[in-house]
Amino acid sequence: MVKYIFVTGGVLSSVGKGIVTSSIGKMLQARGLKVTAVKVDPYVNVDAGTMNPYMHGEVYVTDDGGETDLDLGWYERFLDLNLKKDNNITTGLVYRAVIEKERKGDFLGRCVQIVPHVTNEIKHRIRVVAKSSNVDVVLTEVGGTVGDIEGLPFLEAIRQMRLEEGFENTLYVHVALVPILDVTKEMKTKPLQHSVNELRRIGIQPDIIVARCSEMIDSEVLRKIALFGTIPENAVFCSYNVETIYQVPLILDEQGMGEFICNRLGFPKSKPEYGQWKIFVDALLNPKYDVKIALVGKYAGLADSYVSMNEALRHAGAACKAKVCIDYIKAEAFEKNPKEIEKLRKYDGVFVPYGFGPRGTEGKIMAIRFARENNVPFLGICYGFQLAVIEFARDVCGLKDANSTEINPDSPHPVIDLMPEQRGIEIKGATMRLGAHKIVVKPCTMAYALYKSEEIYERHRHRFEVNLDYLETFEKNGLVFSGKNADARRMEILELPNHYFFFASQFHGEFKSRPGKPDPEYYGFVKACLDKKLGKAEPEF
Ligand code: GLN
Repeated sequence: MVKYIFVTGGVLSSVGKGIVTSSIGKMLQARGLKVTAVKVDPYVNVDAGTMNPYMHGEVYVTDDGGETDLDLGWYERFLDLNLKKDNNITTGLVYRAVIEKERKGDFLGRCVQIVPHVTNEIKHRIRVVAKSSNVDVVLTEVGGTVGDIEGLPFLEAIRQMRLEEGFENTLYVHVALVPILDVTKEMKTKPLQHSVNELRRIGIQPDIIVARCSEMIDSEVLRKIALFGTIPENAVFCSYNVETIYQVPLILDEQGMGEFICNRLGFPKSKPEYGQWKIFVDALLNPKYDVKIALVGKYAGLADSYVSMNEALRHAGAACKAKVCIDYIKAEAFEKNPKEIEKLRKYDGVFVPYGFGPRGTEGKIMAIRFARENNVPFLGICYGFQLAVIEFARDVCGLKDANSTEINPDSPHPVIDLMPEQRGIEIKGATMRLGAHKIVVKPCTMAYALYKSEEIYERHRHRFEVNLDYLETFEKNGLVFSGKNADARRMEILELPNHYFFFASQFHGEFKSRPGKPDPEYYGFVKACLDKKLGKAEPEF
């Protein structure tokens, strides 16, 4: 019998529900249980693919090509899982399914309503994940904050699930902020009390409350939360600020949360085994070296836009005992004042991430040129890969005004062009080339040294690609495409053999990077940054 844990949030969004959900999963895994996680997003978009990363954070891509909420990335990283697009349930998906059924006549004769038709669809989708993933526990995180209008059908659905699945098979965890007042340094629980009240008004009594506070809450505050939340004191936990979020499962477990959950759900008591996880956290907390990386991007004002990339760089850092400091640099700054490019001198590496549209692209190209000409380690991802091709075309192959047709449709040298199957597509949602595709890696290259395999599978999200008309020119001028798709018509990895480390990929390695198992291209980049800094003649992989 599968058990269900539901995580809701109160007071504010971005309170750390995703990390608490992932941490609960980790605590259960450490006790030998099999888990999966579902993110419920009450927004009306069918998926996250059409949302601006600058407002909503990065779009996370699953193996099966889902464009999902970034919390799925946290679940995958914490739990070392490869989730499916079904693990992200949105209002858009649910309503679309209900309306399609109505049109087909599935509800013939009846009035279609939020309860039961929409709530049934929500429960059905959570149970489909439970069935298909063959686990002991399904974690379901409800996005947004309790009290949001759009979240109500989801809360009603999880309320009903207790009635249907039984008390001993369901658990409600409520995560809410406990702010500390600047002046008096007091920890204030009133907002949390209100959010618990709101939850109860809907019919959900939390079993566990996680107070999100910058510091560990004191026992007085804990008692107050328990009293007003109507739960025992040993059901209140505190997620306080830690140096790295990978510590969160450990600090919650120390407070007894893992044991409490197992007890409550009837799992046998067992000692948690964190093994590799603790080794990874220790490596993060005790670095021997440091490397400074300039991330030159368009969405540089919001770190969440690049969250998987940040984490992949950190995973790579931990593997080489290095603390990775990332500075976010707005690409447009270089366009406005070309002298600013000199600022890149103080970095050990230049990183150009994904992106869309023309804004900031010339600045990114300037950063790539700086890295290429000054032998500074460079990693380009997706748009970063395409812009590296453009830079090489212009400066090395002498193709003046070479560009991507995404940036300039009238370029005389469209070295990056729309993929043939993208022509004629007008609908924006879920129409890019998405998800994991096979890549053939060329032996005796940097790529092969890193991946140690001639066949890899990596996740994609793009519409444009290298224009094959220019392939010969590129190769003649020394650019090596060391990874191609199965029929060799799609360029996937590029490298420059005479450079310390100049590497870029059309795919996104960051989505497969895990604590203790860094992604090869990110590892190669950070190791090259470090080895160059340490004065080694070449990177030692
Ligand atoms: N805009 C480019 C494309 O669509 C790159 C996309 C990306 O960086 N994810 O091909």
